[in-house]
Amino acid sequence: MRLLGALALTGIACGQPHPVDRKAMVREQIEKRGVRDVEVLRAMRDVPREDFVPEAVREHAFKDHPLPIGRGQTISQPYIVAHMTELLGPSKDVDVLEIGTGSGYQAAVLAEVFRDVYTIEVIPDLAASAKSRLARLGYAKVHVRTGDGYSGWPEKAPFARIILTAAPPSIPDALVAQLARGGRMVAPVGESPEDQYLLVIEKDAAGKVARRRVGAVRFVPMVPGPH
Ligand code: SAH
Repeated sequence: MRLLGALALTGIACGQPHPVDRKAMVREQIEKRGVRDVEVLRAMRDVPREDFVPEAVREHAFKDHPLPIGRGQTISQPYIVAHMTELLGPSKDVDVLEIGTGSGYQAAVLAEVFRDVYTIEVIPDLAASAKSRLARLGYAKVHVRTGDGYSGWPEKAPFARIILTAAPPSIPDALVAQLARGGRMVAPVGESPEDQYLLVIEKDAAGKVARRRVGAVRFVPMVPGPH
């Protein structure tokens, strides 16, 4: 235990976080709060979160809070990434659509537990840097598009899983339409950052849609994209 702590400190002091930091992050922040899915826990240990945050905040990569990634946007707190991935219901048999690529971190975690990942980012610079970062790290099955998430990705629809990592005031109809029968969507929703909750939306085999709230969250707003 003491040895692990010392290694973690050494990793941070050298500016090159060691995987042991990710193990501690998963144990202390994610398992303790009740995330149980073994594939999600493995993904959170394996994806190099430190490579998705700007150099200037790298020493904080494993802390229990969101971090700035430029352009006024943030990479979510590790627990929220794990919790939402678990809520989606991991399966290597299905693709997933993500709205709000940001750094590409959530997309990389999704790539570990789903088949292909389609992710849309409205800010061109962020989309470009996430795309090259994901390619460099070997995430060939993550497909990044610059565009407006409100329109979804119609050519690849329907999706068995959809995740939003920016909060719209209400769930866009186009995204509900692009959710497959038997599919599930996880999304933060709210009129303002102070008043948001996480929604799980399920479409049954007959196409009937059910929604349930699973707790309060705080995400950046989903902005209307260019048209
Ligand atoms: N999932 C990201 C964090 C998301 S932050 C990660 O793992 O790093 C939310 C992102 O949603 C921001 O990058 C923001 O630019 C993007 N966004 C906001 N509105 C959007 C829209 N209409 N379409 C696509 N992306 C949007």
